[in-house]
Amino acid sequence: MCSKGGVRGNWTSAEVFQQINSLLDRLADEDLTAVPAEAMGDDQIALQRIDNRVRAEALRRLRRFDKGQGYTDSMALSAKAWLRWKCNLDYNVASGQVEVARRLETLPQTSKALADGDISYRHASLIARTAERLGDRMEAHAEEILVNAAKELDPLRLRYAIAQLRHCLEPDQVLDDAKKAHERRFLYLSQTFDGIFRIDGQLDADGGAALQTALNAAMGPPAADDWRSAAERRADALTDIARRQLDSGRLREVGGQKPHLMITVDMATLRKEPGSRAAELEWAQPIPAETARRLACDCTITPVLRGLESHQVEAGRTSRVIPPSMRRALIARDKHCRFPGCDRPVAWTDGHHLKHWADGGPTLPFNLALLCGRHHYATHELGYRLKWGENGELVAIPP
Ligand SMILES: [Zn+2]
Ligand SMILES: [Zn+2]
Repeated sequence: MCSKGGVRGNWTSAEVFQQINSLLDRLADEDLTAVPAEAMGDDQIALQRIDNRVRAEALRRLRRFDKGQGYTDSMALSAKAWLRWKCNLDYNVASGQVEVARRLETLPQTSKALADGDISYRHASLIARTAERLGDRMEAHAEEILVNAAKELDPLRLRYAIAQLRHCLEPDQVLDDAKKAHERRFLYLSQTFDGIFRIDGQLDADGGAALQTALNAAMGPPAADDWRSAAERRADALTDIARRQLDSGRLREVGGQKPHLMITVDMATLRKEPGSRAAELEWAQPIPAETARRLACDCTITPVLRGLESHQVEAGRTSRVIPPSMRRALIARDKHCRFPGCDRPVAWTDGHHLKHWADGGPTLPFNLALLCGRHHYATHELGYRLKWGENGELVAIPP
């Protein structure tokens, strides 16, 4: 603990730590309600720099401890094990600190930037890991580039800079890493007992970027009245993309048919008659009548007549609820989702019957409006009522 060399001014390190602690106590005693909140910004910056400097000093001492095997008296087998034990650190954190401490010995510019408070531990550890990967190819020039980048960038952007540097210095290795990342791709779609689908997965860089781009396009910028969280908007966008793909009819045939979402529902259910059965959606558990009504608003229908015996079934002709010519007329009239304030393009809309066809509403323009997925849901499941206003605008009456 008490260093023989002594700190500047012949203080022992223990005495310095005592001073630092008493200075921190003074800060902690300050009544912050008396200080303007804006002043806290500068304090954050100052404390972050001090934090960086403290980390640099801790690593410098950790290196000495590790090299000189200062842990042997405690019976710990390594500096990493000792850190975990005595400082209550995660295995990864303890191991990372020892690795970085060792590596910084060969990275003078990184060590100095951390000790000066200019970069954080996170930055230093990214540079250390890069140096380890690059080995001999990491020269002083490369370190200088990374340290300068680290002073300006957050760790995520520093990663990009590192990726650029690695691509220059070891393109084959970078390609190998990308192949390995590709091999680690997976997607699980599983259904819970509640009938909810859970998604878990991992994509390689270009797969993830393709999905992100498609999601962004499907989400569009959030509208002012959009009450959904970002995660909810992303989930809706993924559903929209899947539906749109099915509607486009461009997917490969399955069992001799173009794939589509199939629901089986009784007319009584669509009319919401009391005591009627829940509708059945392929792959999913029974769904509520109102959801079936939404899906049935604009779909292809095959009437199936069931005789008294369950094997006596007879299928009628398949037809579009809203025929293509009618949809074209609606597109020309509506131009986008007609819900007040929404401008989702027609490609993302379904035709909605103001009075449902199951309740006798006609499939004629005055009873139809194009609605995006979110507003179609709001109209059915959330109970918004729609009617035409005096100037031909659609009016939504909240439930
Ligand atoms: Zn509808
Ligand atoms: Zn809309």
